Parts: sequence; C-alpha cells; structure tokens
Amino acid sequence: MVCPMLAMCATFLCAAVSFAQPPLQKITILLRFEHPESAVSRQIMQTEIQSLLGRSVSVRFGTEIGALDLTVGRLVAFRMRGYCSMNRPVDDRRPGLALGSTFVSDGSVLPFGEVECDRIRASIQRVSHVNLPEGQRQLGQAMGRVIVHELYHMLSGSSIHTKEGLTKRGLSSFELIANTARLPRNSADAMEITGTLPCSRREPATCTLGALSAEHKP
Ligand SMILES: [Zn+2]
Repeated sequence: MVCPMLAMCATFLCAAVSFAQPPLQKITILLRFEHPESAVSRQIMQTEIQSLLGRSVSVRFGTEIGALDLTVGRLVAFRMRGYCSMNRPVDDRRPGLALGSTFVSDGSVLPFGEVECDRIRASIQRVSHVNLPEGQRQLGQAMGRVIVHELYHMLSGSSIHTKEGLTKRGLSSFELIANTARLPRNSADAMEITGTLPCSRREPATCTLGALSAEHKP
C-alpha cells in the first residue's frame, strides 16, 4: 500500500525523468520451448519482462533468428526446458536447484541461457495452491523474473550478484509469485538500461523480498 505522500513523490519522479529520454535500447529475446507452453503464461512472462526492464527498453520476442529483420538490437536466446504450463504434473520437487542459468565460456558471459520451467513450477507449488488460470499467471510472472535475472548477467557481462532484488543469487518461492519485484538500480546501470524504469519499481518501500531458497548458475 502506498501512502498519499509516497504516491505524490512517485508521480513527481515520473514527470522529472520524462524530460530526458535516453535512446531506446532494443533487445530481442529468442525463446525455444521444449514442449508446448501455456499461451497465457508466455504472454504474462513477456509483459513482466518488459515491465521490469522499463520504458527505455524495447523488447521483442521471437522463436528463430531467420524470422527477424536486422533491427533486432541486442540478441539473447533461452532454451525453455521442461513443461512451461501449470496443467502438467510436477515430477521433480527437490528444492535448491537452479531455476535458470547463463552460459559462460573462457570467463565471458554468453548471450545464451536456460530456464527450468519444471523447477519453477515446483517452487511455486510449494507455497501456492490456486486454480489453473491463476497458476498460469503466476508461472508466467515467475518465468519473466528468472529471465530478467539471467538477462542481467548477459547484458552486464557480470556473474556478480546483488544483495537484494531480482539479481541476488537465489529467488524464493514467495519472490517468484510476489505482487511486486524490483530490478536494483545498480543492476540496471550495469545492463545499460537506466533511464526510465517504471516509478513503482524504483521505490524500495513497495518491494518486499523474502529469504533465499533457490540457487542458480552463475
Ligand atoms: Zn545469477
């Protein structure tokens, strides 16, 4: 809940940054799903990613490079492993496994990663018991948050984690489904996407993050 004074400050911040619009950065995210995914989860995931990266970034999504034109901007790719839909049974419920990963070669962070949908589903179901439509929404939101974490590694070239926010080492079940999430300002700086992040996500008071429970690579 945001108090009236806080809301007014947030509104002012929006007005202040609108005078200095940075160049729009383009990012294209290629997604390859191992199995047919939930269309609802996919749409929510895309919305979550765009929301977290902010209005200074134009995010496009595709499935293969051949279908894209030459204005893709920065290109990254994810293999979506397992079943990215809540209408499938969850087989592996072991906690603490990586929810996502980014490949590193000779010390360089590559623009290729993997998202573990089965593990994300298991993590969500440990704390959430909702109907299927709401479950698909939660899955999409969680997938988006895991991808933004890996995007931080890819775009910054860094394997270092922050102490809080989406770029810390692990995201708990509660953090995956929480109403709000925050990309730390220094992480956005490292990704070179600073400028017009949504105001509601710049205010730490609106974002409460829980304890760590899931490790991932790097
Ligand atoms: Zn990480």
